Amino acid sequence: LAVYLVFLSNGTHVLSPHCRYLWFCVVMPILINYSTHLTARLIMGSSRLHRDIKDASITLAAYVAAASLSILHREYWLTLCSYTFPIVLSGFFNNKKLLNITAFLSVCALLLTTALQCFEHAVNTTFVVNQVVAYGFVLISYLSSVLAINFSHSSFSVIHDQEKENDQLHQIVQLDQMTGLYNHQTFLTQLDAAISKSNAGKEAFCLAVLDLDDFKRINDTYGHDRGDQVLLTLSRVLKEHCDSSDKICRYGGEEFAVIFCGKHRAGAQTVLQDVLKTFSACRYDFTDRQITFSCGLLEYDNTSAADIFFNQVDQMLYLAKRNGKNQICSG
Ligand code: GH3
Ligand code: MG
Ligand code: MG
Repeated sequence: LAVYLVFLSNGTHVLSPHCRYLWFCVVMPILINYSTHLTARLIMGSSRLHRDIKDASITLAAYVAAASLSILHREYWLTLCSYTFPIVLSGFFNNKKLLNITAFLSVCALLLTTALQCFEHAVNTTFVVNQVVAYGFVLISYLSSVLAINFSHSSFSVIHDQEKENDQLHQIVQLDQMTGLYNHQTFLTQLDAAISKSNAGKEAFCLAVLDLDDFKRINDTYGHDRGDQVLLTLSRVLKEHCDSSDKICRYGGEEFAVIFCGKHRAGAQTVLQDVLKTFSACRYDFTDRQITFSCGLLEYDNTSAADIFFNQVDQMLYLAKRNGKNQICSG
């Protein structure tokens, strides 16, 4: 555009070969490309995806090419079928909004071409057949693009549902069915992850192992269902007191493990004391007796392997049991 303006300011006549060449072969294509891009931005304004704007730019550029071809070279009837290209392109880009706009613009341009041709040609059978073929091409390419988009959307929703189902299955596999806490296998994975993080100097952590006191007697006296009620109560109290970053697991039977991520021993001990206080204050409809748990707690020392560290915490738990139960022992 700058070169064109320089030519004009130097007194070169607008209709001189130089100026005409610059105008038709440089300035106009640049302006058309730029306005095509601006229109694409306008049409796809609601979409934040850069890809949508790029797709719309390409499709509109193809449309402008097709419209120029069919309007300027309308004496060649075949050029009227060139709208197939932008319409199929928008279908290929899987964009229904873009497809509808392209199809609408194509019909508008075709109507203009038809109107121009009416002045230039006799409206005879050949004329009508050619028009029907041109509009037919637009219609067929539009319908096949709609079909293609619908098909790809339904395939996408099948994949999406499948992914959701896989996520749900993955969650189910990770959790203990009765309490909804992480299961034994997930505990081992989470412990390995916490150890790796701690060894990399990223985050300290503590491990607590909890075991209900005299639980066999509760089962034997009041039945398994009542025993399950106690297990669920402890799970609820743990969930209420632990942070979302902590990993609460049902290690097995009436034993639970909690990985306190990012906490040192003092912080974890405070939480566990609250848990023990709240849990032992819980009352049940089948007994007036207090139900308690014992707990072993240690902060990871960045040296032990997972099984050795777990055994060390387990030793703390047995110490708590030996010391009379209903307590937290942390070495
Ligand atoms: P201690 O204080 O020494 O831990 O004694 P305890 O009776 O709690 O320990 P013991 O290992 O003798 O008994 C554990 C009991 O936990 C035995 C088993 O029937 C019961 N149990 C394990 N899993 C479940 C469960 O899912 N539901 C119920 N209700 N009971 C369970
Ligand atoms: Mg036990
Ligand atoms: Mg027990």
